[in-house]
Amino acid sequence: MIAEQIMDTLKEIIETNKTEGNVYNVFFHADKAIRNKEVIVESSPNINQEINQRTATSIFWGLYFRKNESEKICLTFGHRYLDTYQQNSCVHYTMLMHEYRHLYDYYSNPETFFKSNEKERFHFELKARKIEVDIGLIFYQSKLWVFKEFKQKNEFYPLFGW
Ligand SMILES: [Zn+2]
Repeated sequence: MIAEQIMDTLKEIIETNKTEGNVYNVFFHADKAIRNKEVIVESSPNINQEINQRTATSIFWGLYFRKNESEKICLTFGHRYLDTYQQNSCVHYTMLMHEYRHLYDYYSNPETFFKSNEKERFHFELKARKIEVDIGLIFYQSKLWVFKEFKQKNEFYPLFGW
C-alpha cells in the first residue's frame, strides 16, 4: 500500500536526520497511534458528499483525518495525494506531518477536538502550519528533497481545512 510506504519513508526521514523537539514529538505520538492501530489508515474510501466537498478544495488533495461513522479515527489518503506522490517530493511528507500534528492535538484533546469552535480550529491549524515550517527546514538542510514540486502543484489552500 502506497500510504504505508509514504509513512515509512517519513519515519526514515525523521530518523536519518536525527530530528528532535517538536517535529520528533509529534511524529512519535502519531506514528505510535497508527502502528498500534488506534488510527485506521484508509485509501480513497467512499465517504459522504459533505466530506468530499470539503476535501476537494484542500491542498492536501484528499489527505486528512476524520472520525468515521463508528467513531474511529481515520487517516485518509485520497486519490490525488496518492497519484501525485513521488518518493522525493517533500510536499507530501510536509502534508503528512500537518495531519500528524492534528492527530497529536486530537490525542491531547480527545473529548473536545472535533467539537472545537472556529477560533480553536484556527489555533489547531496554526500549530499544523508551524510543523510544516519545522519539517520544511529539515528538508532544506538535508538538501535531498525536491522543493519545486510545491510551486508547480500549489493550489488553493484554505485556512480552515483539516
Ligand atoms: Zn489542517
